[in-house]
Amino acid sequence: MRFPQLDPSDLAAFRAVFRGELIWPSDPDYDEARRIWNGTIDRHPALIARCTGTTDVAAAVNFARASGLSVAVRGGGHSMAGHSVCDDGIVIDLSPMNAVTVSRRHRRARAQGGCLLGAFDTATQAHMLATPAGVVSHTGLGGLVLGGGFGWLSRRYGLSVDNLTAVRIVTADGAVRTASDTEHPDLFWAVRGGGGNFGVVTEFELTLHRVGPVRFAAAYYTLDEGPRVLRAWRDHMTTAPDELTWALYLRLAPPLPELPAELHGKPTVCAMSCWIGSPHDGDRQLDAVLHVGKPHGLTKMTLPYRALQAYSFPGAVVPDRIYTKTGYLTEPDDDTLDTALTHATRITSPFTQLELLCLGGAVSRVPDDATAYPNRHTPFVVNLASAWTDPTEDAHHTAWARDGHRALSPRLTGGYVNFMNPGEGDRTEDSYGPKYARLRAIKAEYDPANLFRLNQNIPPA
Ligand code: FAD
Repeated sequence: MRFPQLDPSDLAAFRAVFRGELIWPSDPDYDEARRIWNGTIDRHPALIARCTGTTDVAAAVNFARASGLSVAVRGGGHSMAGHSVCDDGIVIDLSPMNAVTVSRRHRRARAQGGCLLGAFDTATQAHMLATPAGVVSHTGLGGLVLGGGFGWLSRRYGLSVDNLTAVRIVTADGAVRTASDTEHPDLFWAVRGGGGNFGVVTEFELTLHRVGPVRFAAAYYTLDEGPRVLRAWRDHMTTAPDELTWALYLRLAPPLPELPAELHGKPTVCAMSCWIGSPHDGDRQLDAVLHVGKPHGLTKMTLPYRALQAYSFPGAVVPDRIYTKTGYLTEPDDDTLDTALTHATRITSPFTQLELLCLGGAVSRVPDDATAYPNRHTPFVVNLASAWTDPTEDAHHTAWARDGHRALSPRLTGGYVNFMNPGEGDRTEDSYGPKYARLRAIKAEYDPANLFRLNQNIPPA
């Protein structure tokens, strides 16, 4: 491995102001520090700068610019495309910046840029408050919010970006700015969906909502019942109340004792639903959707929202290789749903799933031009998520996701930048559609040299 020679005077100036930890290739914890969640990504940065606060971030940005190093910004390290680590450059690692403060009175939270969802939910749920984010607690808030962000609360309270009220951001010139509706409103528009293109966010300010215990159900259906279940899901979700979220995961049934042995390892439809409202009303609503077929391994419970966020599919091994293909479904007609079911019969791994999600609700009531997030009015989302453990099987599992995407493509539009795989840089323009030109103009103003390019990149106009 050959790393770039760094100018000793630039390095000395950087060391003089940087308070965090610097990790070099010769350090014993280097390999652990450069590792990100998607194990298919194996990159060797010249330096990892673990930042303790905004001043460190500004120092790291200035050093990177002065020394001509490429820059990766690491929030929670869950980018499936591997954008949070680079070869030969500097990783601005925000992982020590994970503090969250909550104002119960103002229903606001301030979270540092490297915070994980679990830390955020723990802090806010201590006050029975929450804001929409993703469904897996070890995901980073940073990347998730900047790309849009959706999860169990989104139909009721919108996307993460719809609840963002301000950011503190270090831009490419090293300046620390606040962006909100009243300060740098163009930049604030861009960071609500435009990803990490515009600078390093060191603090997010988010609106909170009262979220008490939620009613949740999960069940499996045989693939024979798939056509009925998928059609019922599509029809019901088109007019469902905002409180109801109902997602389908076409996947191999895990060897759970509560599932009939003959289903184990077979392709099934796993349905998960939750009611964000009074648990009493929720029971009736969840029963209605559970009985669209014959549910197996039925689980029904009332649980704190924070516990729902930590709920995950049971599995003996945690996969560390992932490849996704995603798109918004313009029309989930019968043919398209049947194509998804057929593709599910070819699933290649027990960790893989074809996800069918429906946003809508509060997400679709925000005007399209309010934020940079695209496809707001196309509520149905398909995500083909291949996950496996053995590096020698990469080609086999990635082909499943690609083939499924191709088969569904006549009804797919755009893409969600947060779900893109390493080879999908060319899908960025198409994903943003008509918003792309405005994003490029704002990028030219705040990052004319494209310092922040390890992301779903928007080149400066
Ligand atoms: P990182 O890899 O750290 O960063 C991703 C990108 O964001 C990089 O370009 C990085 O430079 C940039 N970035 C991160 N933090 C900052 C910051 N503070 N300032 C500037 N740029 C920054 N998405 C959903 O919407 N809903 C879900 O339910 C959901 N579930 C997921 C579950 C898993 C297991 C995984 C792996 C992903 C999931 N995602 C979900 C996708 C998720 O939104 C993206 O992977 C997102 O990029 C993760 O953010 P991160 O901070 O962990 O990523």
